[in-house]
Amino acid sequence: MFKKILIANRGEIALRIIRACKQLGITSIIVYSKADKDSLPVKLADEKICIGPALATKSYLNQEAIISAAEVMGAEAIHPGYGFLAENAAFAERVAQAGLTFIGPTSDNIKSMGDKVAAKKQMLEAGVPCVPGSNGALPSDKEAALKIAREVGYPVIIKAASGGGGRGMRVVESEENLINAISMTQAEAKTNFGDSVVYLERYLQAPRHVEIQVLADTQGNAIHLGERDCSMQRRHQKVIEEAPAPGISAEQRVQIGERCALACQKMNYIGAGTFEFLYENGEFFFIEMNTRIQVEHTITELVTGVDIVQEQILVAAGQPLSYTQQDVRINGHAFECRINAENPYTFMPSPGRIDYCHLPAGFGIRVDSHIESGYTVPPSYDSLIAKICVHAPTREQAIDKMQAALSEAEIQGIDTNIALHQKLFADPEFNKGQVSIHYLSQWIAENIE
Ligand code: ADP
Repeated sequence: MFKKILIANRGEIALRIIRACKQLGITSIIVYSKADKDSLPVKLADEKICIGPALATKSYLNQEAIISAAEVMGAEAIHPGYGFLAENAAFAERVAQAGLTFIGPTSDNIKSMGDKVAAKKQMLEAGVPCVPGSNGALPSDKEAALKIAREVGYPVIIKAASGGGGRGMRVVESEENLINAISMTQAEAKTNFGDSVVYLERYLQAPRHVEIQVLADTQGNAIHLGERDCSMQRRHQKVIEEAPAPGISAEQRVQIGERCALACQKMNYIGAGTFEFLYENGEFFFIEMNTRIQVEHTITELVTGVDIVQEQILVAAGQPLSYTQQDVRINGHAFECRINAENPYTFMPSPGRIDYCHLPAGFGIRVDSHIESGYTVPPSYDSLIAKICVHAPTREQAIDKMQAALSEAEIQGIDTNIALHQKLFADPEFNKGQVSIHYLSQWIAENIE
C-alpha cells in the first residue's frame, strides 16, 4: 500500500480524499494555490505545499509544479479528484513517466473515452446500448451526411467528438438546416477543442439522465454499484442527484450494470468510472463515460456502503476490489443537493467571506464540505461549497429528511442556492420522481425568471 499520496485538487473533494487516506493509514499531502492557503483541506492534510497563485493554469492545472511537488514531498501516487487534471490523458502519462501512480485509469483509457466517437465504438463492441446515429465521424460528403440523418430520423444532434461540458452540440430539427449546422459545429469544435471531427445522433426529446457507477481493478475484476438519476440539471450542470433512479427495476439495473462492468473488462479499465446514459421510454442510450470520481459518488456510497474513494486508492496500489458483484446491495434511497455560492434567483456566483455557517448533521445526513465560519470563498474556482446528502429507507422518507436538513442549514455572508433546493424539494412533480432533463430549466422559467 502507498505510504504517501499527493492530492492535486482543492475544496470538498480534496477533503474527501484526505479522509480516505486517514482511514487507510496513508499520509496525505495537499498542493494548494495562494487563494486556498487558509482552507480546511490545507489545515487537515498531513503535509502541504504551495504550488502557485490563484489562477488555476498556474496552480491546479500546472502539471510540472504538481509532479515536482510529488517528487519533493516523497509521494508515491497522485489523486486528481474531479475537474482540473482528472481527465487529462497527458497528465496521467507524465505521472507514470515520473515513476508515480496516477490514481485513476490509464492514459489510454482516458484518451479513448475522451474521444466520443472512439468511446461509442468501444461501447457498441461491448454491447452497451448507444443513441442511434452516425456510428463514427460524419463523412465530409454532404449527400452521405444527409442520408445518415434521414435514416436516423429528425430531430438530430450534431456533437463534437472532443466536446465536453455541454459545449460543441447543435440540435437540427429538419433537413434544410443540416449541412449548415454541421459546418458551424465543425468550426466551433476546431476553435474550442482543436479538433473538427463531429458525429450525429438522434435527438431524444425528453430523456432522463441516468448513470452507472463502476469500479475495476488490475486483476480483471469489474463491478457496478447501480445507478444515479441526475436529471435535475441547469445548463448541463447537475443540481440534485438521487440513487437509485426512480422507476428502474432490479432486472434493468442488473442488465445495464453488467454491460458496463463487461465493457470495463474489455478495455482493461482501472479504478472508478461512470457510464452516462440518456434514459427514455424504458431504454438506456450511452452518451459518454467519465473516467474519474464524480461529485455525486456520495449517494452511491450511501446506498451501497462501498467507500468508492478508498477502493480507487486500493486498486491503484494493485490490490483486488474489496467487493464482488454479489456483495453489492442497494439499500434505501439517497439524495444529494449541490450547495453553490450563488444567487438563488439570478444564479450569479457569490464568492466572499462566510460570517457564520451551520451545516446540518444527524442520523442519515452526510455533508461533504470545506467551508466553515470565517472562511472566504475565493472567486477563482467552481462555486460548489457543500454537498448535503441524505439516506433513508424510502424515497419519501429521504425527501422528508432532505427538507429537514435544508431547513437547518445556515450560511451567512454570501448568497447560496439553499432556498432553491428548499423550493424544489417542496415541488409535487419533482417529489413524484422521473422528471426529464428539461424539467429544472422549465421550472426555473416558470417560478423564478
Ligand atoms: P458533455 O461531455 O459536453 O457533457 P454529453 O454527450 O454528455 O456532452 O451531453 C451533454 C448533454 O447534452 C446531455 O446530458 C443531454 O442533456 C444533451 N444531449 C446529448 N446528446 C443528446 C441526444 N442524443 N439527445 C438529447 N439530448 C442530448
